[in-house]
Amino acid sequence: MPRPISATISRSALSHNLGTIRARLDSVRGAADPVRVWAVIKANAYGHGIERAVQGFARADGLAMLDLAEAVRCREAGWSRPILLLEGVFEPVDLEVAGRYGLTLTVHHADQLAMLEAARPARPFDVFLKFNTGMNRLGFTPADGAGAHARLRALQEAGAVAQLGTMTHFSTADTDEGIAAQLAVFRRATAGMSGPASLCNSAACLRYPEVAGDWARPGIALYGASPFGGESAAQWRLRPAMALRSRLIGTQALQPGDAVGYGGVYRAQRHMRVGVVACGYADGYPRHAPTGTPVVVAGVRTRLLGRVSMDMLAVDLEPVPQARDGAPVTLWGADGLSVDDVAAASGTIGYELLCAVAPRVPVYFED
Ligand SMILES: *Cc1c(COP(=O)(O)O)cnc(C)c1O
Repeated sequence: MPRPISATISRSALSHNLGTIRARLDSVRGAADPVRVWAVIKANAYGHGIERAVQGFARADGLAMLDLAEAVRCREAGWSRPILLLEGVFEPVDLEVAGRYGLTLTVHHADQLAMLEAARPARPFDVFLKFNTGMNRLGFTPADGAGAHARLRALQEAGAVAQLGTMTHFSTADTDEGIAAQLAVFRRATAGMSGPASLCNSAACLRYPEVAGDWARPGIALYGASPFGGESAAQWRLRPAMALRSRLIGTQALQPGDAVGYGGVYRAQRHMRVGVVACGYADGYPRHAPTGTPVVVAGVRTRLLGRVSMDMLAVDLEPVPQARDGAPVTLWGADGLSVDDVAAASGTIGYELLCAVAPRVPVYFED
């Protein structure tokens, strides 16, 4: 028998979440003039699997990712609509692959402009010119953006570029001030530039759908996790797409003063039963999750005790006295326990936990 841990990915949750975000975007613009949606599937679809994402997001207008190999896998899985490379290409040879597979390019750097100018593509590329409007990560400053845009327009005239759009990325998409400041910079920088604009990540799609522009770029919300600290995904009617489950593979009876796990960092105050779960940091569970991190055993919410080991962790069985070896355990994504709850207790965000599920965890795809 394999170790009892597994992740289950729900196709219907992926497609439900896409529908929820679309409804939110259309609530402003109306369904007659819909915002198009790039489903962001970078990092192996936030740990959910590229091919599963291609199926779950079958109704998206496009897919967006970083990795050329993942983009090729999407084409091989039958995806024929646009695919956006969020960081563009890294070297000239990438342009050949991007051309062959009809990928849409982000251009955020002068070197990428030079590569495009040197290329003689068989078919013109669709391009989004990326502006740095305050995140100070990737993109042209407004001052440099005008010149970059002029060079892309020249490539358009020459037939190397087809559609030419603009994009930016919000660093603080959960506050009015964060959105307003970057939006003002973007609008000034792109004034007079026609072509589609792409602005909104999940937080902006949900909280500021009026900003969306022509193409939105939600990621985390599509997987049913929250882009907001302290605000649940369920509040936005999003459903967790991944459930991480395991079982108890042992129990221990502790006397007062007995310690649990490495370093003995948790000590029993009284007689108590402890369950040992087949899930550890080598499965992607955060090692820094402290005592008290929520875990569900046999449908009952309880807590982690002591340090997380490589292959196991310990839980308090006091609220579930009937639990025996083999009892089902939910680490996140079902039984009312969200990945965001586990992340908050561990001082991180749901994104990191979803992306970190280890290759050794078997994944099942269900409807
Ligand atoms: C990751 C990413 C997104 C999606 O962000 P979420 O917070 O997951 O919605 C959108 N745009 C860019 C450029 C990204 O890198």
